[in-house]
Amino acid sequence: MTISYEEYLKLLLPASDQKLEEMAQKARQLTLKHFGRTILMYAPIYLSNECDNRCVYCGFSRELAEGGVTLSVDEVIRESEILYNKGFRHILLVSGEKRDKISISYLREIISRLHKKFESISLEIFPLEEEEYRELFLAGADGLTVYQEVYDREIYQKVHPQGPKADYDHRRQTPERAARAGFYRINIGALLGLGKWEEEAAELGRHAADLKKKFWQSQISVSFPRLKSSAAGFKPLYPVTDRQLVQMICALRIFQPSLGLVLSTREGRELRDNLIPLGITQMSAESKTAPGGYSQEIAAEEQFEIADKRSLAEVVSSIRERGYEPVLKDWYKSLIT
Ligand code: SF4
Repeated sequence: MTISYEEYLKLLLPASDQKLEEMAQKARQLTLKHFGRTILMYAPIYLSNECDNRCVYCGFSRELAEGGVTLSVDEVIRESEILYNKGFRHILLVSGEKRDKISISYLREIISRLHKKFESISLEIFPLEEEEYRELFLAGADGLTVYQEVYDREIYQKVHPQGPKADYDHRRQTPERAARAGFYRINIGALLGLGKWEEEAAELGRHAADLKKKFWQSQISVSFPRLKSSAAGFKPLYPVTDRQLVQMICALRIFQPSLGLVLSTREGRELRDNLIPLGITQMSAESKTAPGGYSQEIAAEEQFEIADKRSLAEVVSSIRERGYEPVLKDWYKSLIT
């Protein structure tokens, strides 16, 4: 039985902390029912650490990335081959916002070449227009990750003072533009630590529910990126504890039982392992957050520090020890295309 949005808001209240064990059991049952014992694995490839925005929390923001790096198409392919040989089939292409370097034709060429080998290619780049998404979808991309970063408008303006990203509404409407263009894996999130977590979780839950309603044939997911130290030296405005993160994950799972829940290597190994049974459905492993990070032929700034530095093999074995099956290739794509 699903719960209403008002009931979801109650699960985010401090008083619900006392019911955390009960919430965790419910979240576990619902995840087993909707996803079984599987965890989809993916890895990011950073294309560029150049960016015209000045997000105050990011190591790639303009002043810090002077002399930044954008990989050539061949360099991206070399990075992808390293990940392919490790077993990854789901790839996330990540970049800052640098339109003159990260052009649609550059992205189209990379995607068309990767599409021959990889099962799924997702983008975590700057917001595009619907027509541009359509072009990249036709080249072979199927997934989009775009975090609103912070749903609170006032904080949003403070932490995104300049650059195209200062446009809150254009960013907020990005998942819809991509979904209308054909993207069928849509992943949203809030950068935890920028706003009060209960308020951010409330708005994130509303956004996810709205997308699920409008694009019911798409796979909608939510990520939980917590702010970590970066080259910008930014400290979270509202730090989120492990327990609050667990409360948020369980509440979202109970509210939206078929929502994908994603956890990256920003979190440490112990927390990642413990969260597996509570509702997580996708995880990254062995991630590098600098362009050229896998081949290590280029010295470039990392976007943020990775907490879980285990290899894919170590993460896989840890998932199996908990009775779950890591999935490097899924059949969602072949079922719907
Ligand atoms: S968070 Fe993204 S948009 Fe902002 S400065 Fe960093 S790379 Fe650029």
